[in-house]
Amino acid sequence: MHGNRHDAAPDPLAIMSTISLSGVRKSFGAVEALRGIDLEIEDGEFVVFVGPSGCGKSTLLRAISGLEEISQGQVAFDGRDMTYAAPGKRGLAMVFQSYSLYPHMTVERNIGFALGVHGASKSEVATKVLTVAKMLKLEQYLDRLPSELSGGQKQRVAIGRALVRDPEILLFDEPLSNLDAELRVQMRVELAELHQRLRQTLIYVTHDQVEAMTLADRIVVMRAGQIEQVGKPRQLYSDPDNVFVAGFIGTPKMNFLEVDLKPGPAGGWCVLAPDFEGDPLILSLSDALEGSAVIGIRPEAFHPDADVKLGLTVRTVEDLGGMQYAYCRTGSGVELTVHLDKNQVVSPGQTIVVGVPPQEIFAFDHDTGRRMK
Ligand code: ATP
Repeated sequence: MHGNRHDAAPDPLAIMSTISLSGVRKSFGAVEALRGIDLEIEDGEFVVFVGPSGCGKSTLLRAISGLEEISQGQVAFDGRDMTYAAPGKRGLAMVFQSYSLYPHMTVERNIGFALGVHGASKSEVATKVLTVAKMLKLEQYLDRLPSELSGGQKQRVAIGRALVRDPEILLFDEPLSNLDAELRVQMRVELAELHQRLRQTLIYVTHDQVEAMTLADRIVVMRAGQIEQVGKPRQLYSDPDNVFVAGFIGTPKMNFLEVDLKPGPAGGWCVLAPDFEGDPLILSLSDALEGSAVIGIRPEAFHPDADVKLGLTVRTVEDLGGMQYAYCRTGSGVELTVHLDKNQVVSPGQTIVVGVPPQEIFAFDHDTGRRMK
């Protein structure tokens, strides 16, 4: 569908697929939901907005769609100012968490309804609906009513209704939130495949960082109306800019320890923490400052061969079959999560010693949370 989307172009406003946001602000009375958003989205990119509840993800999506008028700044598509364009003039389609299907219409009519309204002929509608239904594995359900479908099938109909209009840009607002865990995974894979096939510009809002990691070409991590970092999933995982992104991306989340830094005897920075045993932990940080800091280590980064050791008491173990996580406490009471090999036998109350490899440590400014490299 993406291949022919530039063919039918009577409306110049409809030719667009890159998105440019500059200085976008939105206030609801005293609440500043968006506090100056600058973002460029490429043609065909799958971009995921992720962040905790209330951080402004949906408001940003609605600002792009035109459903929400912004208080300040500019929204442009392919270089054209769209800040005040009506939603219907923006060439995009949106899929919501609540499927919003017409309950009295069959799947076929639900998918084709908007096309009919916009004057397409009956046969044109039928052909397009069938193409989309095949793509979404809905052919055998075309005669059913929404009440006769499963949650996943309903969500596929909602996606079909968006796709059938051949939009330049697809916007998804938490589309999988109503589905059970298994179905979410299945739909996630289907969405990834769909995007690989269509290569439409797609923006997807979720608070689920696993969804963000698995689907996105680029992730936009938001907090309190601002962008914390934008990057490819792997980049956010391995090179976070700050303690918030480091803690938000990755599951189980990164462990954090409050430490003191002082210049090392032979260069680098020596990390002083009450719980370290063995060799001192030396980090080579070019922009560190002496004094309080926070270090982070991912549950999967501990390594038995490392010279710096941490003694931990196991509180509980989660055995997932292929891997295990031990939830532990240090001598000074800091809680840490440790990834264990599937064959390791560990039980609650036991003491374990883990190694902390210096190259796996992230360091952050204690006050600002900024990453020190
Ligand atoms: P969630 O994941 O819970 O949906 P979100 O990141 O999508 O959260 P938004 O829905 O964009 O967050 O809301 C951002 C902020 O703006 C919140 O503090 C919210 O209470 C506020 N807000 C959103 N819409 C309105 C509105 N119509 N009137 C007043 N405040 C609003």
